[in-house]
Amino acid sequence: MNVLVVGAHHDDIELGCGGTVARLTEEGHTVYGVVLTNSETHYDVRNIHRTKEQALVEAKRAAEVIGLTLTELDYPQVDNGLLEYDVELMRTTERFIAKHDIELVFSHWQYDMNTDHEAAAKITTVASRHVPSVLMYRSNWYQPDRAFNGIFYVDISRYIEKKIKSLECYSVEISNRSREWIDSFIDHNRSYGFSIDSEYAEVFEPMRYTLINLVDRQNRRDG
Ligand SMILES: [Zn+2]
Repeated sequence: MNVLVVGAHHDDIELGCGGTVARLTEEGHTVYGVVLTNSETHYDVRNIHRTKEQALVEAKRAAEVIGLTLTELDYPQVDNGLLEYDVELMRTTERFIAKHDIELVFSHWQYDMNTDHEAAAKITTVASRHVPSVLMYRSNWYQPDRAFNGIFYVDISRYIEKKIKSLECYSVEISNRSREWIDSFIDHNRSYGFSIDSEYAEVFEPMRYTLINLVDRQNRRDG
């Protein structure tokens, strides 16, 4: 199966789905990762800074740890903070999905308060409208006026070390935000694990999920 994970910034994929990506790739699936902004940050209010070059170098290392195939779309990355719904970017993503026969997509949560994440969710979910399964993840803890309905679990107990190792590749982010940045996600993964009688889990809100697809997709397309 070919899978696509879309993130607005380098590190979102690892935070929200790092264990699941590691598990899927080890089980023989191909997981493509696409990041829509250059992830350069100059956020003076909280003294958070990283260059796009730093972000890319660290992202490549992190991708290697979890087996993610980090891919560039045939469309330029926009500056951090400026991502908006864009028809051309949506169509480019849609063409990528069709070309690689993607059957499962991981998107940002559509109600995320980070505006890049929200725009990325819109672009991803519209581009994925013909994909049988679309699951949404969180990569921050900002709380809007509705709850994240995380009801789809993936047991990542055997992959938690890979997730931590991939996040540790983001040394600039760790120095910006402290080690608690990683720990807060791993603590949640531990709590989610309890819900499924396991050690660690990641949880997703399904936009839709197809448990069994009875129609052969290739035949349908050829027909
Ligand atoms: Zn982000």
